[in-house]
Amino acid sequence: MHQSFSVALALSFAALALASGGANDWSYSGRDGPQRWGLKPEYSACDKGKAQSPVNLLSSRVKKEGFPELVMPSLKKANVSTSKHTIQWTPADGAEGGNDRFMVVGGAKYSLAQFHIHTPSEHHVDDKYYDSELHFVHKTADGKLAVLGVFLEESVAENPLWSAALSKVPDVGKSTVLDTLLDTSEIKAAVGNGYYNYQGSLTTPPCSEGVQWFVASTPIRMSLAQIKSVAKIIGFSARPVQYNEALAAQSDDGHSGHDGHGAQDDKGKESAASSQDKHSGAATGIATSVASFAGLAALLALMF
Ligand SMILES: [Zn+2]
Repeated sequence: MHQSFSVALALSFAALALASGGANDWSYSGRDGPQRWGLKPEYSACDKGKAQSPVNLLSSRVKKEGFPELVMPSLKKANVSTSKHTIQWTPADGAEGGNDRFMVVGGAKYSLAQFHIHTPSEHHVDDKYYDSELHFVHKTADGKLAVLGVFLEESVAENPLWSAALSKVPDVGKSTVLDTLLDTSEIKAAVGNGYYNYQGSLTTPPCSEGVQWFVASTPIRMSLAQIKSVAKIIGFSARPVQYNEALAAQSDDGHSGHDGHGAQDDKGKESAASSQDKHSGAATGIATSVASFAGLAALLALMF
């Protein structure tokens, strides 16, 4: 079932890429897919890099203490733009340059430049993926990057904090300005519960390295309808998990209980979709697992 799912998915997105055309010279499948990004000289880091993202994270390596100072007042206004690969929210309130939303990493101030969404998640945890992942991209004045990743997991109830942000998403290739956008309290709460930190890269071409990644270990919840409303627009938008030399060295360092699949496989080998499992909402029991599975099927049905 998983195999035919992958093939159908690839075909679906090849069609989607053709339909949307667009300026981007990369895609998530087919001729311009992730396996071929690095063939273009300007994207060579995608192939040759040794600290690439996303990766498979190990739950045994969650950090509880020491999350960087994070200042993220709720968003009152943002420019929302949709490309064929993502929906992106760029703050349009507060101080110029977004200086009122920032993280302090290693003594340097990284201001929030934008945040965007992937479906399903790009990072995996213990070889499982989530329904979706938000990336809050923070930058220093001289261009260094720190990205905060937050997983989204399907729940029965709608998440009211995201209703406004997801209510008026423009069509692909368009942008719009939205008011009263997002209460960020649950994002700040999520990072307080634990996080992963590693040195990686952009997950899209040019795959530049030197990116400080912080990924909250606790997902935030959204209804299937909310997640579908995003997936319907951007489709499959996750780079496969990558080899990352420093993380691989950490994993070899006396860690056991990991089955060896996923991020730390041979470089360039895409983790087969068939070997990946979704986080199943185990905390809320079987009903949620069944609902999630039905939800995934519904999501796929929507996309074909
Ligand atoms: Zn991203």
